[in-house]
Amino acid sequence: MVDVASKVGVPSRHATTHVGLYPRHARASHRANSREPAPAEAANLTGCSFSSASITYRVSHGSWTGTINSWGGTDVNFTSVSSGQKISLGTYHDSSVTTDGVATWTCSGGTTSHAFVTYNRYYTDGYPALKLRSVANHEMGHALGLAHRSGCYLMNGSTPTRYDTCGIYVRGTDETNAINSLY
Ligand SMILES: [Zn+2]
Repeated sequence: MVDVASKVGVPSRHATTHVGLYPRHARASHRANSREPAPAEAANLTGCSFSSASITYRVSHGSWTGTINSWGGTDVNFTSVSSGQKISLGTYHDSSVTTDGVATWTCSGGTTSHAFVTYNRYYTDGYPALKLRSVANHEMGHALGLAHRSGCYLMNGSTPTRYDTCGIYVRGTDETNAINSLY
């Protein structure tokens, strides 16, 4: 059981790193113990985004309501559907990786046609609720078009940095502005 109070000095057993250039299938996963480069100036973009601000989604597994509500507070609006969704939300369980979440998306000419957004329950089952939110919101940020950024930001690819050190679990002003510029 993980205590919310253990925010300081938690070793980075698991985190996340973006390994994606964006050919057809881009992938953002996250690696433990990565060093952070110097902070960037503003939100970074993947170069891929959906063609419309009205985005359909379907939840197969997991707790995604907070993420939908959070990102739905931007110019993006989400609609739950039972098929034909733009974003598929789910979970997986993999003890063999150091990643606690993965987002993948299919992109052509800068337009995303579909994205999978997932978190790894092998790790997240031991997370307090806000830490899970941090991972889920981060992965959704990728699907919507945000790339990694160092420093205390939602799009920092390291969960130990983003959450344990910085306490970040929702988007900030820069992320909001970036999404609203895309949609
Ligand atoms: Zn990431």
